[in-house]
Amino acid sequence: MKLPEDLFNEKEKGLLEKAKIEIDFNKDYSLDEIGELEIKLKDACLDYGFTNCIPNVSCKAWEKICDNFIDVTDKLQAVQDWLIRKEMKSGVERTIILDEKGKIMQIRKGTAENVSFDDSVSKKIFDTAKPRSLDVFHNHPSNSSLSYDDLEFMLFTRAVRSVSAVTKLGKRYTMSIPLKNRTLVGEFRKAWEKSYDNDLNKMLKKLARMLKWKYTAK
Ligand SMILES: [Zn+2]
Repeated sequence: MKLPEDLFNEKEKGLLEKAKIEIDFNKDYSLDEIGELEIKLKDACLDYGFTNCIPNVSCKAWEKICDNFIDVTDKLQAVQDWLIRKEMKSGVERTIILDEKGKIMQIRKGTAENVSFDDSVSKKIFDTAKPRSLDVFHNHPSNSSLSYDDLEFMLFTRAVRSVSAVTKLGKRYTMSIPLKNRTLVGEFRKAWEKSYDNDLNKMLKKLARMLKWKYTAK
C-alpha cells in the first residue's frame, strides 16, 4: 500500500476543518441530522474541490454518511489530517486502521495513554483481515516513538503488518513486520532487553535489526 507522503502534514487544513463541519464520533445521530451533515459535506466537497473524500469508519453516523461517499483516494488525506489535528488538540490517542489498499477500516478514540481494541467491531476487523495486511496508525501525545505495547500488539495480532506513531511535532515512527517473519514472543522480549538504550529511536533501530523487522522514523 502506498501512503501519501504527507499523510500527517499539518500545513494544509482538511476539508472538515475548512468547511467548519463538526462531527461527534461518539454521538448516535438521527437520520435527519445525518441528512443535514451529508448536505454540508457535499457542498463542502464542491466548494473545496474534493470529490470522494470521506472514509469508511465504524461510527454509525459516519458509516451512513460514508455510504454516499465511499471511495478512498488521495483526497482522504484531508480527512486524516483533520483527525490527527483533532486528537492532538484533545490530547487523547486516536487510532486509524487502514487495509492494504489504504481504505480506512476504523477510527477509534482512546485515552491519553492508549486506544483499546477490546470490542466486537475491532475484533472482527482483526479476525477477518488477511495475515499481515493492516496498517495501524495512532498518535502519541507524549511525542515519543513506539512503545513496547505497540510492538507487542503488532506481533500478537496476525492481521497487523505495521504500527505507526505520529507526534504533534510532525514525526512518524513506523515498525513493520514482514509476512514471513516468525518472531516468537520470547525472542521479542529478549531482544527488547538486549537492545536497551536511553535513546528510544536508536533502540528501536537495533531491535528491528535483531528481529529482521523494519523501522523508519520520518
Ligand atoms: Zn503507542
